[in-house]
Amino acid sequence: MRTDSEQIADRPLVLVVGAGINGAAVARELTLNGVSVVVVDANDIAFGATSRSSRLIHGGLRYLERGDFALVRESLRERSILLKTAPQFVRPLRLRIPVRRRFGGLIWSVLTFLGWDRSCLGRFWLRCFPNARERGLWLIRLGLWMYDRLANSSPLPPGEGGRRPGEGRSTIDPRYPFACEYFDAQILSPERFTIALLDDARQLAQEQKLTFDVHTHTLAEFHGREVSLIDRLNRNAQITLQPDVIINATGAWGDATLADWRVGSPKLFGGTKGSHFVTANRELRAALGDGGLYAEASDGRMVFVLPLGEDQTLVGTTDEPFDARPETAVAEPREIDYLIDLVNEVVHSAKLTREDVVMSYSGIRPLPFGRADSPSSIPRGHWIEENTHGPIPILTLIGGKLTTCRALGEEVADRVLSRLQMPRLASSRDRFVGQVFNLPNQDQSGSEELRTNSSGQVENLPHVRDIIRHEWVRTLSDLVERRLLLIFDPRLDQPRLRELAMLLASEGVIRPDQVDSEVTTSATRLRQVYGININGAVESIPDRANPDLD
Ligand SMILES: Cc1cc2nc3c(=O)[nH]c(=O)nc-3n(C[C@H](O)[C@H](O)[C@H](O)COP(=O)(O)OP(=O)(O)OC[C@H]3O[C@@H](n4cnc5c(N)ncnc54)[C@H](O)[C@@H]3O)c2cc1C
Repeated sequence: MRTDSEQIADRPLVLVVGAGINGAAVARELTLNGVSVVVVDANDIAFGATSRSSRLIHGGLRYLERGDFALVRESLRERSILLKTAPQFVRPLRLRIPVRRRFGGLIWSVLTFLGWDRSCLGRFWLRCFPNARERGLWLIRLGLWMYDRLANSSPLPPGEGGRRPGEGRSTIDPRYPFACEYFDAQILSPERFTIALLDDARQLAQEQKLTFDVHTHTLAEFHGREVSLIDRLNRNAQITLQPDVIINATGAWGDATLADWRVGSPKLFGGTKGSHFVTANRELRAALGDGGLYAEASDGRMVFVLPLGEDQTLVGTTDEPFDARPETAVAEPREIDYLIDLVNEVVHSAKLTREDVVMSYSGIRPLPFGRADSPSSIPRGHWIEENTHGPIPILTLIGGKLTTCRALGEEVADRVLSRLQMPRLASSRDRFVGQVFNLPNQDQSGSEELRTNSSGQVENLPHVRDIIRHEWVRTLSDLVERRLLLIFDPRLDQPRLRELAMLLASEGVIRPDQVDSEVTTSATRLRQVYGININGAVESIPDRANPDLD
């Protein structure tokens, strides 16, 4: 990190605080339009909700029930753009919805659409008809028909539904005689996609001789018109800069960030917690084939059961109010049991137990604060809150999805450009998002740069050096969790952690005397955050109350 004697001088300059997918998309959009950018993250790139998501690029079929047509239309448009501009990251995914009944759920859907599902009428209806929430074949067909209409000229095939073929041989429980099918898209590695956005911003800045820097494990402190960047891993290293605009892209930390900066603001965020688990259960993985399931839990919530590479399955998510610091969120045993029950209900051959869970994770959705009756009724769009009372204007990003990161980036850039009285020069709509390094199993040219397995994890160590040098790696946890995605690799063990830590030391990222402590810290995080025992044995849902994750 540079010292304050090398203060960044060129203008205009935007400071993006938070290097999740939204901060990265904003940074890219700004450099594309000739603005210098410095990105800081208190932790690591994609440390927050970005790496704790369901990894889908989707229109949000269920948002139709709440009448959020504009969000669905925007998300479907962005899905098409990402399928075209980031095909190595975003791939079509067939999803099946197992259905029990031909009819049903219509009146409940109308109540939900009108926002009356939590009203006295809604509660009365549920008392009279306990299965009122269960969606029937015709209702889902109607939803899929609307989804296709809103998708306009989508490259994906339309949805359909009917009686399930091959009944009897199927692994889906016979109590579900019908199924609907539709397409959305999967992004196996939003972490690496975020790196690719930042790498593109770096290239754009180089071409235009702009300033572009990314500082991870760094905090921004205000001193009037000046901002000091404090390196949390090396407190002697500081940079001072004078940004023209600050983007608060700290997601679910957004309110805490404003409070740290002593910026007076009403509460903006009302995040909800979502947990997932991964299993290597063979019956379940075989039942999925090359697609996923979108199944209704007993409380009417929809849960995804998704293929994760060739051997694993990702199941999620829950949706609960959450008030604590986002980094303390872990998947609770109760949430895992809820998801396991859903899987066993639909795929009768799986017979999942807690012992089948190889890892789990939890994240906080950066949703807007409001008076919603239930977590699922909180709006899922995005908003930009401007605070212009202080010496530097601050734009806080609220909400947003992986799917709509480009659109949000575009919207934020437009606000910043108009504030800086600069014209829009270019659009990201047709701009390709390349890999930082070629991933052979995703690359048409077949070039052999990085070897990855089918879950997208990087396997060959020689090229890990390139990742360390070019992808802003500063700790062993950065490398293991969000660059190489080894959290999804059941073979991850202590010797591999040590090997990677030594590689970091040989690249000068850590000191040789830090190897042991890095291995210990990384192993502790793997256990506390993901429930992974790195000696290979699977820990069955450890007690992870109040872990110190930071
Ligand atoms: C359970 C779950 C499932 C989801 N599934 C999907 C899905 O399938 N598809 C989809 O489109 N969307 C999904 N989403 C939504 C999506 O993941 C998030 O909306 C998106 O990742 C938010 O990105 P972000 O960049 O705004 O925030 P984050 O990714 O949370 O990034 C915020 C960053 O700010 C940093 N930070 C915090 N405080 C500070 C500070 N003081 N200074 C500097 N940096 C700081 C953090 O370290 C973090 O890196 C899901 C979300 C969750 C939680």
